[in-house]
Amino acid sequence: MTTAVRLLDGASAPIHVTIVERSSDVGRGVAYGVENTNCLLNVPAARMGALVEDEEQFYHFARTRDRRVSPGDFLPRSLYGEYLDELLRSAARRGRQSGHELRIVTDEAIGLEADVLGRFRVALASSAPLPPFDAVIVATGNLSPLVPVQVGSDLASHDRFISDPWAPSALRRIDSRQGVLLIGTGLTAVDVALSIVEEHGELPMVAISRRGQLPQPHRPHGHPPSYGHFPPDLVSCSPTISAYLSAVRKHVRALEDDGVDWREAIGSLRPLTPKLWQGLPREERERFLRHVQPFWDTHRHRISSRVWTRLQELRQREILDVRAARLVGYSVESDHVRAIVRDRGRMQPREYTVGSIINCTGPAADLRKQMSPFLQALADGGYAVVDSLGLGFRVAPNGSMIGRDGRPHDSLKLVGPLLKGEYWEATAVPELRVHAARTADSLLARFLGSVRHA
Ligand SMILES: Cc1cc2nc3c(=O)[nH]c(=O)nc-3n(C[C@H](O)[C@H](O)[C@H](O)COP(=O)(O)OP(=O)(O)OC[C@H]3O[C@@H](n4cnc5c(N)ncnc54)[C@H](O)[C@@H]3O)c2cc1C
Repeated sequence: MTTAVRLLDGASAPIHVTIVERSSDVGRGVAYGVENTNCLLNVPAARMGALVEDEEQFYHFARTRDRRVSPGDFLPRSLYGEYLDELLRSAARRGRQSGHELRIVTDEAIGLEADVLGRFRVALASSAPLPPFDAVIVATGNLSPLVPVQVGSDLASHDRFISDPWAPSALRRIDSRQGVLLIGTGLTAVDVALSIVEEHGELPMVAISRRGQLPQPHRPHGHPPSYGHFPPDLVSCSPTISAYLSAVRKHVRALEDDGVDWREAIGSLRPLTPKLWQGLPREERERFLRHVQPFWDTHRHRISSRVWTRLQELRQREILDVRAARLVGYSVESDHVRAIVRDRGRMQPREYTVGSIINCTGPAADLRKQMSPFLQALADGGYAVVDSLGLGFRVAPNGSMIGRDGRPHDSLKLVGPLLKGEYWEATAVPELRVHAARTADSLLARFLGSVRHA
């Protein structure tokens, strides 16, 4: 959506932009389509501007709604959704004055094929194919969650198992008379737990994961991390995960000796993460995914201190139990599920009687295991190649997708979380807006020879 806005604002001659979106909420996606105002952004307001040229735009938008908002506030994600709506509406309005056209097609893209002129035909699930496009931007977001391996097909297809808590109305299926088991303790589990309390009241909830770690909190209001505490040894150390880790640990210790918070060191890695990631050989990246990612996720993708406090309160009141444990068995009964859970390092299992089990493992991490029909069509047609770790598709430095023939296709671009394989940091707004601008500008330069606001 941000790329569309950039195209409309940047085109120096009339263009036609079509957004194909399968849901009725264009631009909001899973993250910002939530209605629950307790689901907060995990980035401060003044860093959530969707456009590179105005990092604070969202903050100023929020101030038009409430003058008390300050730059370090963690605001509701639903408000961010309203901001995105407004951004698209106003870009469409401005675009019309310049002769541009924005068309929204509510349907699912299921196929793509290049014609002899190099234009693309996009097949849709329910309607006739659209007229051919000069360029296509693949911006399909995160992958849907995978059903955990411990969950067999009998439970996976049962109404008491919610395989995708982000699917429309998914949490309405929860049986409000009984407890709930959440598989996962990360950002998805945090959102789901708070949403359950909001929608169903304080049901007993057990959340399990291999390490039982919740995301770490940001510091209380007013302390967004700066990017100025980069671990110096990272510049010169060898490209291995153990060298990276020891450089970061050493720096965190030195900062703490000076009374500086560890978050400063983690925050400062952000602008250089793509370079550090690209410097790692494949086996080192694999090592990171296997051993370090759970710690990275909980320290890097933090939650607001308000959400953290609320979770602690739910835990103290024994409404939410967070455990390092795994599901080792279950039986589906007529009006409940009996879940057998084994704590890490313990032989003796525990048994829970719950009304629902919710998959909170988050977006699938391996594209090879979770291709939508559209992504499968891109791969099958040779337009896209999955990166060696299955994190996303391969791209050239300008975001052009690399095809099976090893060549970048300059009219077929990728933005969003599927760039993880290339940059690792590719899912949050501060990175998305950079990738969106690069993509839009490169297409405008290719087709119109110039970019109006460049
Ligand atoms: C729960 C959650 C909370 C987050 N919170 C933050 C935050 O606080 N701060 C931050 O910076 N980042 C946050 N993020 C990360 C990031 O901002 C989002 O992942 C971002 O929405 C990605 O944008 P996108 O446009 O690439 O994908 P999405 O916003 O997911 O949009 C992709 C869209 O494509 C549609 N689609 C997919 N396939 C097809 C198809 N074949 N045909 C038609 N339509 C299709 C989907 O319906 C969806 O609407 C969060 C992510 C999640 C999941």
